[in-house]
Amino acid sequence: MGATGALARSARAWLAEASDAVISVFFPAGCRLCDALLTRASRVPICDRCLDSFEAPPGQKCMVCGQPQPAPFAPEGDQLLCRACREKTYAFERARSYSVYEGALARAIVMLKWERIDPLAAWFAERLAELVGREAQAMAADIVVPVPLHKNRQKERGYNQAGLISKPLARMLRLPHKELLLMRTKPRPDKQILSLEERWESVRGAFATRPGSQVDNRRVLLVDDVMTTGATLDACTRALLDGGAKAVVGLTIARAAKNPLPAPWKGQLRQRDGRKPAKVG
Ligand SMILES: [Zn+2]
Ligand SMILES: [Zn+2]
Repeated sequence: MGATGALARSARAWLAEASDAVISVFFPAGCRLCDALLTRASRVPICDRCLDSFEAPPGQKCMVCGQPQPAPFAPEGDQLLCRACREKTYAFERARSYSVYEGALARAIVMLKWERIDPLAAWFAERLAELVGREAQAMAADIVVPVPLHKNRQKERGYNQAGLISKPLARMLRLPHKELLLMRTKPRPDKQILSLEERWESVRGAFATRPGSQVDNRRVLLVDDVMTTGATLDACTRALLDGGAKAVVGLTIARAAKNPLPAPWKGQLRQRDGRKPAKVG
């Protein structure tokens, strides 16, 4: 059990604390993140100040994967590409995220992992729909697919937090939602913190399209809650492309602020994989 048990325990302790905070404010309930009184009529249990703090300040981003880039940032030709994308790390065509995984937003995302709060998921879906709207052509897709959990994990949790977001998003974009198209065939290691190398290793070949699923020649909008190294989105993309998809674009609520990819090690992985890096852009 080990790390998962500890994680569940700490999450329970955190939730107990959070619900105490809610109970301490009589009615209406307080913001789940800061305790402030919720004064507006909304089913999202987070106050406007916390919601406003979610948005990352504007800055330069990698054209392909959307990774925030420190200024000054030296572009290669006309394209602003991060190091990982200059090395053609990812198989997806591009990825975008609403914001950066830190502060109140990170706490809200953790909350969504342990508690099924549909109104909050729908609020995030709206932000993601706006992102798609901003790059309508590049982010165009035929179907929406969430990054799946392994069936044991899904059973344990009762829902997939990525699906919680992708479902209302598909509705907003008027696209078919294919929750069961992808499956995770290899479970995540039972360990709370994974190193960069372990992250890539643990998702390699861990996803597959379900037999009989229709993905031929389709552009897929792949949705997850957080993009850390991009390894999960990449592994899902490769499974979708193997299944016949034309292209994959990724969308997450948040992404890690920093993403240092160990380049020499990445080269080794490629060789073991026996595949050429996917062409991007
Ligand atoms: Zn708040
Ligand atoms: Zn990039």
